[in-house]
Amino acid sequence: MTDLSVPPAAGACGEGAVLRERGQREVFCGLTGIVWLHRKMQDAFFLVVGSRTCAHLIQSAAGVMIFAEPRFGTAILTDRDLAGLADANDELDRICLSLLERRPDIGTLFLVGSCPSEVIKLDLAKAAERLNARLFPRVRVLNYSGSGIETTFTQGEDNALKALVPLMAESTARQLLVVGCVADIVEDQLARSFEALGIGSVRFLPARRAADLPGVGPGTRLLLAQPFNGETVRALCARGAELIEAPYPFGAEGTAAWLGAAARAWGVAQDRLHAVVEPLAARAQRALAPHRERLQGRRVSFLPDSQLEIPLARFVARELGMVPVEVGTPYLDRQMVAAELPLLPAGVRLSEGQDVERQLDRLAVDRPDLTVCGLGLANPLEARGYATKWSIELVFTPIHGFEQAGDLAEIFARPLQRRARLAV
Ligand code: SF4
Repeated sequence: MTDLSVPPAAGACGEGAVLRERGQREVFCGLTGIVWLHRKMQDAFFLVVGSRTCAHLIQSAAGVMIFAEPRFGTAILTDRDLAGLADANDELDRICLSLLERRPDIGTLFLVGSCPSEVIKLDLAKAAERLNARLFPRVRVLNYSGSGIETTFTQGEDNALKALVPLMAESTARQLLVVGCVADIVEDQLARSFEALGIGSVRFLPARRAADLPGVGPGTRLLLAQPFNGETVRALCARGAELIEAPYPFGAEGTAAWLGAAARAWGVAQDRLHAVVEPLAARAQRALAPHRERLQGRRVSFLPDSQLEIPLARFVARELGMVPVEVGTPYLDRQMVAAELPLLPAGVRLSEGQDVERQLDRLAVDRPDLTVCGLGLANPLEARGYATKWSIELVFTPIHGFEQAGDLAEIFARPLQRRARLAV
């Protein structure tokens, strides 16, 4: 029978020493979140208020959409705006109004702050208020920061979701709220499992339509799908919601434990839980087996980038038999990874923040078989003979749940297979 309680690793990492670094970092900014958020919320438009650099980042990260009308864009701040010679507020209002006139399908408009808009202190909260006074209820205008100052790229999602919390109605109804953006296909699979377990009602944040907001209150229990939405979770808890502590639904064991935690909170009978979860977990384990064979004993280092590092290190160690050497995270939000830390293997070096030169020195000593890192470091590291995996791919790709366990394992296996082929 599948063990859904997940015992901690022997001599687990838990509360051990954390190497804290505060030097130069190599990470993308929060604007990157628009790439997956605009795909999820189909009635939303993300208008970055930024420079040409911001526009290039978004355009190249998201790819150019030729046949579809895109749901993101950049209102470019010109030299006159930056020098304070033009009233950027008037210009922004004009751009928003003309966009909304052209695009009646937009129900929620996010004004996304950037480094330049923050440097010139353009008040996007005021701009949203001004535009709402003219446009609400046809369109709802919200704002959040996607700037790269002191952030990492997944914080863009946290900031966007947190902006939605004040709009959620007060509710005392009993409901499960899954927090964190997941692909539609994953949402459907997870929803089917909750239904089979008799857990309801279940809502997802974000929903497919940004305007389709659940209520929140003392009857709401939160189950987290992503580990980087700490601010959103705290805002929801301040509204009376309660967090269900669970590992993240990565891999067979992680997903079983995640569903098991929800089932316990709902008082689902053990028999029913096992009847639903066991066949799915067994299939996921079969999908993992060939990858485990190839990856067992291979050493892996995670450089701080996505905030997914700790749950993924747990997954590769426990379900693929890999050996995490260093697990770096941009910042250690202990509340978000409380159920994950005890599952990390003993002896793993946990680091928070980055000092890129020192990080590379440690990497040169460690020489892991695989390095999971940001795009900016991947190519130079490949040139030095390291096998790498872009951590951003793990955010763009559906990796949650039983059905995706094999695909998730393959993401770690592929760079090593490619190296092996090249070496022949
Ligand atoms: S928000 Fe800042 S870090 Fe991000 S692309 Fe714009 S200027 Fe660069």
